[in-house]
Amino acid sequence: ETLIKIENLTVNYQTKTGLIEALKDVNLELKKGEFLCILGPSGCGKSTLLRVIAGFIPLTSGKCLMHENPIEGPDWHRGVVFQSPTLYPWLTVKGNIEFGPKSRGVPKDKIEEISKFFIQEVDLEGFEEKYPFELSGGMKQRVALARVLANYPEVILMDEPFGSLDAFTRSNMQNLIRNIWQENNCSIFFITHDVDEALMLGTKVLVMSPRPGKIIKEFTLDFTNKLL
Ligand code: ADP
Ligand code: ADP
Repeated sequence: ETLIKIENLTVNYQTKTGLIEALKDVNLELKKGEFLCILGPSGCGKSTLLRVIAGFIPLTSGKCLMHENPIEGPDWHRGVVFQSPTLYPWLTVKGNIEFGPKSRGVPKDKIEEISKFFIQEVDLEGFEEKYPFELSGGMKQRVALARVLANYPEVILMDEPFGSLDAFTRSNMQNLIRNIWQENNCSIFFITHDVDEALMLGTKVLVMSPRPGKIIKEFTLDFTNKLL
């Protein structure tokens, strides 16, 4: 089942010094349950691609469809995790995770159940009442992930989510996201410039090159290799 389909996508940025072709004629498909990795050097358009799918920026030409409908803005069906975790500093871990379901009017007892489950999923039991400033970078990123998961998004968009973590924490986070992906049957769109990370996590890897940003190679990886 196709979740997201991108056809002949072109995105230009207008700057003072001229037009930047961030993406040119990009075609891709994200299927349900897929762990799609976008791999490429800095400046090849990875973040631009994510921003279009997230609904943050308009496209210049082409199509970006979800369930065959044009994506017209952000919504909670597409959860986003950035490189630097963006948490509400005035809310606790629990408060951050419950923010989405609360604002969507999910009943109180159901919210309790959801936050308990995802706090467990990201190994943050005992930290429910802590505030973001009391947490390490890896822990903050786990809260950001749980906050997105609490909305049960159809796809999770991740922009170099582990890029600013130390090697040890990064490796823990890679195992965590792989387990969450397998257990919750998620669809993931994952940006990285780390070849090892892409090959380890992805069921499919698209390689991009810059100026203009486009996809130059596609690998499908055997999913059975991913099982520990
Ligand atoms: P990335 O981590 O994706 O490589 P960059 O460090 O290239 O991101 O860019 C950081 C921010 O600066 C982004 O929000 C991007 O939109 C913006 N940016 C990048 N290049 C330009 C540019 N030429 N003009 C204006 N903004 C830019
Ligand atoms: P990546 O995520 O692969 O580093 P980006 O999507 O951030 O690539 O950037 C692709 C190209 O678009 C780069 O040349 C970058 O400088 C440019 N760019 C990104 N954001 C902006 C922006 N807001 N304004 C102008 N140029 C931008």
